Amino acid sequence: MNVRMPDRIDRGVDEIEPPRPAAIKFLHASGSRPLEGYTIKRGVGRGGFGEVYFATSDAGKEVALKLIRRNLEVELRGVTHCLNLKHPNLVALYDIRTDDMGDQWVVMEYVCGESLEQVIERHPDGVPIDEAMWWMRGICAGVGYLHDHGIVHRDLKPGNIFLDEGTVKIGDYGLSKFISCSRRSGQTESVGTVHYMAPEIANGRYGREIDTYALGVMLYEMLTGSVPFEGESVGEVLMKHLTAEPSLEAVPQPFRDIVARALAKDPEVRFANVGELLELLPGGTTQAAYQGPASASVQTTGNGRNGSSLFSPAAVIRPKAWEAQFGRNRNSEDSGEIPEPIAKMLRQSIQNLTDGWNAWTSNPLAKSLVAIAAVVAAVFSVWGWIPVLMTGFFLYCLYYPAWVWFIRPNMKSPANPLFSERPTVAVATPVAVAAAPPPTQREQAAERKRRRYGWRDQALREVAIKPIRDKATELLGSMLIAAGMCVALSGLGAMLVAGDRVTFNTSFPIFLWLATVSTVGCWTVLATNKVTEGRVEDQVPTRGLQLGSGALVGLIAWAVGSMLWIGLPVSRDLAIQPGDSLAGEFLGWRDSYFASHYSSGSVAPPLAITVGYFALLFVALRWWRLAEYTRRVRVSIWSIAWMGFAAWLLQFGWWFPQPSGLAVAAIIAASTQLASPWMPPSRRRELAARAV
Ligand code: ATP
Ligand code: MG
Repeated sequence: MNVRMPDRIDRGVDEIEPPRPAAIKFLHASGSRPLEGYTIKRGVGRGGFGEVYFATSDAGKEVALKLIRRNLEVELRGVTHCLNLKHPNLVALYDIRTDDMGDQWVVMEYVCGESLEQVIERHPDGVPIDEAMWWMRGICAGVGYLHDHGIVHRDLKPGNIFLDEGTVKIGDYGLSKFISCSRRSGQTESVGTVHYMAPEIANGRYGREIDTYALGVMLYEMLTGSVPFEGESVGEVLMKHLTAEPSLEAVPQPFRDIVARALAKDPEVRFANVGELLELLPGGTTQAAYQGPASASVQTTGNGRNGSSLFSPAAVIRPKAWEAQFGRNRNSEDSGEIPEPIAKMLRQSIQNLTDGWNAWTSNPLAKSLVAIAAVVAAVFSVWGWIPVLMTGFFLYCLYYPAWVWFIRPNMKSPANPLFSERPTVAVATPVAVAAAPPPTQREQAAERKRRRYGWRDQALREVAIKPIRDKATELLGSMLIAAGMCVALSGLGAMLVAGDRVTFNTSFPIFLWLATVSTVGCWTVLATNKVTEGRVEDQVPTRGLQLGSGALVGLIAWAVGSMLWIGLPVSRDLAIQPGDSLAGEFLGWRDSYFASHYSSGSVAPPLAITVGYFALLFVALRWWRLAEYTRRVRVSIWSIAWMGFAAWLLQFGWWFPQPSGLAVAAIIAASTQLASPWMPPSRRRELAARAV
């Protein structure tokens, strides 16, 4: 049986807190004055950080006092930034004070109405849609304001959202940042609430997208009466946030798409900002039209105020009208059309290539040389291009009607990450830094380290949690580009490899061999990288994969060579005698049949030699690094040169015709880099800035 878990967890502690006692014993009795200037009237409740009291100031102002538990430390850095925030949808924070016992108190506005948690409890099958929208608009307005001021709430949940005289109020903003667990216990800070916790929190680095995720969970909960992920332990719930897709059947349209996007595992797929989500909500950003949930009876908390007259059912916005509005919004956003994935993939890949080209180097000479080489390569490989393009076009013509008539009608979700354009992610300003004391030397060193490497950790985490569909789309796009690159570069390669015997008849089969082998090689590198990317560099399985794929490439190289009836050119300047290699010595290649062709300048290497060569070539070098999203430069000439050189060097251990071997390696190295997505420096800076 699934149970609702206690909300708060301390990161690193995977245990269930005991249920709260029905009658809470508070530390301070009514009438006591633990904090100078305030008299406690009664205890209100207890949460993850400590106790909350209703109190009055000496001047008679009603306030809520939150006592931070003694084993917690209040980090005051930047808290003044929060103290000065003013927004109708935020519980006003008046002060942070320390009492005579050294305990910290948060002095804040006292909110008299019920919390959203209580509202949801009253509606086990879901809050009426109009009421839910009213809450959502208030919450989004408050959270949007926080984000605009550089604060990530980090603890958004129904228990921290209240109703006060007809206005939605968000409490506890910024507090989870400022309150951290005792350093004595060795625990790290206490972050968020397990049912509302975005997957990236598990990785420790996150930005304001975690609030968008929590908003998605709350919307889901309001509409269905239960949270999207429940489980029997904190760990189980967390694991579901990390890996499981929420079941959205219970969420009525048009909210399903909004919830799906807000709950995307990849923070980048979520709404770029809360305003975007707010606009998509039926009724948009209009607040004035509705003054409160018609069915809600405002629960007073004992201070004599009653808010029940605040709600008027008059201005309820009807769901049908919302649907119409939602439809318009959506259509205006993406023209109501799901983009055709292969065309989209091609567009993205070309965009990627253009971005990489623009960011590559500012040296015009280098760019011109590469551009000329590319044109020459394209011209010389035109006989390879034509069949490739024609086959592609023919297959696309067959596929397109199937897409229009059968596939697209079954894929209606614009929130599907495969079809939604990636929102541009605004740089999330780090959590409040105003009035911060100057950083210590240690902090400065940590900051420098974070600036240097933080972006990579962050990027790897993002890559690791990227949805499989996104990865598959990216991989297909890269494979298409890689094939094009390999064909183009093989044109150039074939001329160079054929050397002084270059004629169409001699170089065309070599071109076909190079293009096929390098394309397959590239594809295996790209696929291997997609499987392993984002993981901590555990080289054993990766090398295992490389070994297998190298053997496969070798098999294909042999098969293509046999089909084309070609011997690969052997240049006496570049290739040693087969028998002079280490393997040749031991395996007696000196007197073999194929070695006797060495002097003729063309050798067809047998199956075992070809498979062995490519298997060794792939297992010995870190090919996957060329495809990594976080590689330092998009196209490194050094990597291409090194891969080519290493492939040449390998002949001393395991013979293979050269320069064919080195040409394949260099083409794979160049094409893999050109075809793989790469994180440009601007994005790195953005990620470094986003590390909270
Ligand atoms: P968390 O520590 O994650 O916020 P919580 O919200 O359950 O958990 P507290 O914030 O400590 O715990 O709140 C304890 C109780 O005090 C809750 O029942 C809440 O409704 C009430 N409360 C908190 N802040 C106020 C406030 N400003 N005015 C009135 N009641 C409040
Ligand atoms: Mg709270």
